[in-house]
Amino acid sequence: MYYSTLADTYEKIESTTKRLEMTDYLVELLKKTPKEIIDKVVYLTQGKICPDFVGLEIGVAEKLAIKAIARAAGRKEAEIQEDLKTSGDIGETAQNFMAKKAQVTLFQQSLTVEKVYQTLEKMAKITGTGSMDMKLSLLAGLLTAATPKEAKYLTRTATGNLRLGIADMTVLDALAIAYGGGKESRPYIERAYNISSDLGRVAKTLVEKGLEGIRKFEVSLGEPIRPMLAERLSTPEEILEKLGGRCIAEYKYDGERIQTHKDGEKVVLFSRRLENISEQYPDAIQLIKQNVKAQTAILEAECVAVDPDTGEMLPFQELMHRRRKYGIAKAMEEYPIALFFFDALYVNGKDLTLQPYPIRRKNLEAIIQQTERFRIAEYIVTDDPEELEKFFLKAIEDGCEGLLCKSIAGDSVYQAGARGWQWIKYKRDYKSEMTDAVDLVIVGAFYGRGKRAGTYGALLLAAYDPSEDVFKTVCKCGSGFTDEDLEKLPKMLDKHKIPNKHPRVVSTIDANIWFEPKQVIEVIGAEITLSPVHTCALNIIRKGSGLAIRFPRFTGKYRPDKAAEDATTVKEIIEMYQRQLKTVEQ
Ligand code: AMP
Repeated sequence: MYYSTLADTYEKIESTTKRLEMTDYLVELLKKTPKEIIDKVVYLTQGKICPDFVGLEIGVAEKLAIKAIARAAGRKEAEIQEDLKTSGDIGETAQNFMAKKAQVTLFQQSLTVEKVYQTLEKMAKITGTGSMDMKLSLLAGLLTAATPKEAKYLTRTATGNLRLGIADMTVLDALAIAYGGGKESRPYIERAYNISSDLGRVAKTLVEKGLEGIRKFEVSLGEPIRPMLAERLSTPEEILEKLGGRCIAEYKYDGERIQTHKDGEKVVLFSRRLENISEQYPDAIQLIKQNVKAQTAILEAECVAVDPDTGEMLPFQELMHRRRKYGIAKAMEEYPIALFFFDALYVNGKDLTLQPYPIRRKNLEAIIQQTERFRIAEYIVTDDPEELEKFFLKAIEDGCEGLLCKSIAGDSVYQAGARGWQWIKYKRDYKSEMTDAVDLVIVGAFYGRGKRAGTYGALLLAAYDPSEDVFKTVCKCGSGFTDEDLEKLPKMLDKHKIPNKHPRVVSTIDANIWFEPKQVIEVIGAEITLSPVHTCALNIIRKGSGLAIRFPRFTGKYRPDKAAEDATTVKEIIEMYQRQLKTVEQ
């Protein structure tokens, strides 16, 4: 097949903004395409040489393209640059110069799609020293053999600027019309795409094996499944009603979604956007190899940053330290992670995507060996709005964003690539920064682990309630302490140690060590949230819940100048919470 056929189609597609017309042109092209190269034609029309998850980009920089055009057209680079300034499009510029050259030389129509594809693929794969020169001569070679119109699209493709505006969904429509017998076949073709993320493989299966082949299309290890997404509602009652009166409610962890593909000893991780992110998480890969008891599996988990000293979950932002190419080993140590699994899509050779959720979950539970850092998402099964609300508050207390409530009905299949009502998220409907630090009283402590063995992992902190003259807990704080602080704290607090909770302390949490309420420290948090366990403002904002400071951090300031009764009061915390709500409503 000649590349000119593609170039002609591209030109037509560019001439319209109507999706239907675009689809027609695409149908025409697909029908003309020989079976063996249909996948390549599909990739090329999207400006690629393979599906995104492979991560292979042609990646020619504009500078290099300018050089290639200069070489192919026999002009100076400066001339090309000058033209580019006016055209603003490297493709147009290539076309201009190749047209001028065409007036003096005669070319034969010789560029085939196969040749173009092979050359672009070669360019994408070259690395190391001398790779620039090789890319340059490969592109210049293509341009020399190209007509001006072909040169335009080749240059755009090589530089990652083809941008014909053909959405994946348009390709699916065109495939259904060209080879599926009409639009009715579209859902099957779309499903194949949703479970493979590979339009080329879908096209090839369709032309080679027909719709029957597409209906039998299965999940394949190494090809990311497009993630199922959730809708959102704001009350437990609505959620339960939508889910048929009963659901499984899981913690909604605040991390990065990971789809892990395990094939024996080979493990690959994909992000929510289907990029291969295996290199960011060698520790996750190790954990999966150790703790997934299946030869092959595709599982979904939320990857969460945890405090290396206390094991507590940290906000999503902390994971950003992992988005790097170098220094991963150090980042792994400083920002360890935990994995919370919530779905099994494929286990030991079996595609589970069309199984209802309870069955997928059973499969998940059967193969996950749980450890502290490797767990199945915390959950309850309930039909009671009150219980759901309580569990929601507990999730927030534990550092999660809220809940994901999921259907357990017979039709609760994995809806790859779709946002539907099978999954409903229940999140805090406000979010804002806590801008002021507060002074809190140390009323208890928890033993540390790991690096903090022998000292405290976290302190139990309370606000003062003058109306009852008591101290009410508002957070557990394990962050912000330096090594020096950790050495100093036990010494400083030893004299206040008491065998049981102090009578003036109101707490439902059982600390490992209790103190007289004496020592005040300054703390700042991310925000103030409702809490099922802390007693500060209990039953004031909402029945059954108090207020807590989320992600509290010691600012480094001890306040020996303050008596316990000078600490921030419960009333002040309530006011801060209300102010925070208002800020968000504005
Ligand atoms: P959102 O990004 O707000 O639409 O919420 C959906 C995201 O929550 C998913 O893409 C996951 O990354 C994340 N998540 C956290 N915990 C769970 C869970 N238990 N089940 C499903 N998704 C979860």
